[in-house]
Amino acid sequence: MNTTRVPFQGGCGLGFPPFAAVALQTRDAMTFGFFAICVTAGLVLGSANFVLFKVVVSRQISRIVQGMQHINESVEVATDGGKGCRDDCKLEVTSNDLIGDVAVSFNSMTEAISRRITVESTARKLLAELSTSFELDVVSREILEALGNVCGAKAGVLYGDTGKKLELLHSYGIDRGRDTPDRLDASQGLAERALATGEVVSASPSRDGLEWVSLSSPLGGFRPELVLLVPLMAEQRAVGLAVVASSAEALTDEQCLLVDAIRTQAAPYLHTAVLHQKLRDLAAIDDLTRVLNRRFGLRRLNEEFSRSVRHGVPLSVLMVDIDHFKSFNDSFGHDAGDAVLIAVAAGLERMVRSGDVVCRYGGEELMIVAPGMGMNDAAQAAERLRRLVETTPVPWRDQTMHVTISVGAASWPVVRASIPEELVTCADQALYHAKDAGRNRVSVHQGERVVALDAMNMDHEKIPATGPATGSPTGSVTM
Ligand code: GH3
Ligand code: MG
Ligand code: MG
Repeated sequence: MNTTRVPFQGGCGLGFPPFAAVALQTRDAMTFGFFAICVTAGLVLGSANFVLFKVVVSRQISRIVQGMQHINESVEVATDGGKGCRDDCKLEVTSNDLIGDVAVSFNSMTEAISRRITVESTARKLLAELSTSFELDVVSREILEALGNVCGAKAGVLYGDTGKKLELLHSYGIDRGRDTPDRLDASQGLAERALATGEVVSASPSRDGLEWVSLSSPLGGFRPELVLLVPLMAEQRAVGLAVVASSAEALTDEQCLLVDAIRTQAAPYLHTAVLHQKLRDLAAIDDLTRVLNRRFGLRRLNEEFSRSVRHGVPLSVLMVDIDHFKSFNDSFGHDAGDAVLIAVAAGLERMVRSGDVVCRYGGEELMIVAPGMGMNDAAQAAERLRRLVETTPVPWRDQTMHVTISVGAASWPVVRASIPEELVTCADQALYHAKDAGRNRVSVHQGERVVALDAMNMDHEKIPATGPATGSPTGSVTM
C-alpha cells in the first residue's frame, strides 16, 4: 500500500454526504460541517489503514519476499554443486490468518524445492562418478555407497546379474565370515519379490522372522533395524539387487525419492559394466577349460615378472603337460579327453594359491605363474599338483579316467632370466626333462642345469636375488 491511498480514502469521505442525503432523505447531510467530518474520518481511516499495513502486513510480506530471494540464491548455489539451504530458508509462522497460511505454503514449497535439488544433485554426482569408469568393481562400489549414504546404511551388499544367478559384486560393513552368499537365488523369498515387481522391499529382520533368515545372513550379526532390497532395473529387467542395512526404522520421503533416483539412473551403468566385464572375460578365458588363455596368461606373466624384478621377490613358472594324451584320446575319444583336460585345469586352479595364475598354454599344456614363490616352494607345489592329478579320478559317463601329468618348474632369480620368456623356456626345458625321465614326475631348472625333484639340491636357492643378468627386466613375452 502506498501513501496516495490516504488522500484517496479522504476523497472517498466527500462522497458520503450525498449518499447519506439520498439514503436518509435529509438535506442536513449536505452541510459543510458534515462534509468536513466525513473527509476527516476518511483521512483518519486511510492513515490507520496505512499504519496497520506498514506495521503488520508489509513486514510479513517483506519477510516472504526476502525468503524467496534467499531461496533463489540457494537454488543457484545448490545447482552449482553447493549445499543450498533447508531449514534456514523456512519462514517463522507467526499468525493463524491468511498470512500464516501463506508462510506455511511457502515453507512446504521450500521443502519440495530443496528435496528436488538434493535428489538431482545426488543423482548428478553419482552419474559423474559412474561415467568415469566401465570397471565393474568401481561401478558397483559407487552405486552401493551412494545407496548406503542415502539410507544411512551401516552395511550393504550389491549383487549383479552376471548370467550366473545374482553374483556378489561389492559389499561393505558386512561380516563376510557369516555365510554371505556369493550368489543369490533370485527365485527366493523377498529377493524374488523385489526383482519381480521392480519395487524396493523393506523388511525388518527382527519382525519378519524366518522369512528373512536367508537374506539377513549377508548382514552377519548386525541385526539392523531395517533391511532394504533395492532392485536395479534396466531394459525392463533386473540387472542387480542391493541389500542395504539401515539403522533407521523407516526411510523418510526424501530418502525414498533419493533411492529411486539412484537406482533408476545407476542401473544402466551397472548393466553396461557387467557386459563390459563379460566381453573381457570372453577375450581372456579359454573356452574349454575356463582358465585364462595363453595370451592373457602371458600378459599376466609379463606384469608379474616386472613386479618381481622391481621388488626383488621371487617368481616361479610351472609348465604342466598331460602324459600320453594323444593315446588317451585315441583310446577313449576326444570328448573324454576334453573332460579330462577340463578336470585337470579345474584341479590346478583349485589347488594354487589365490594370486597365482593358471592358463592354458596350448593343447594339453597348462602354465602356472606363481608370484612370490621361490624355487624350493615351486618344486614342492609342482609335486603336490602332480600327486593330485595322479590320485584324482575323472568321472566320464559311466567310467572313471586316470591321467598323470609331468611338471617343469623354473624360478627367478635362481634362473637369472632377463625377460619372462627365458623363464618360460627354462620351465619348458624342465618339463622335457621330466618327460624324458619317464613322465608323471617333476623336474626343476636350477639355473645351470635341470634336475629331477628327488635329486634337487634345496640349498641352491640361497643364491642372493641379484636381479637379471642381462637385458631389461621389463622385457616381454611375444604373444
Ligand atoms: P606326452 O606325454 O609326451 O606329452 O605325450 P602326448 O601324447 O600328451 O603329447 P603329444 O604332443 O604327442 O600329443 C598331445 C595331444 O593332446 C594331441 C592332441 O590330440 C591332444 N590335445 C590337444 N588339445 C586337446 C584338446 O583340446 N582336447 C583333447 N581332447 N585333446 C587335445
Ligand atoms: Mg602331453
Ligand atoms: Mg604337449
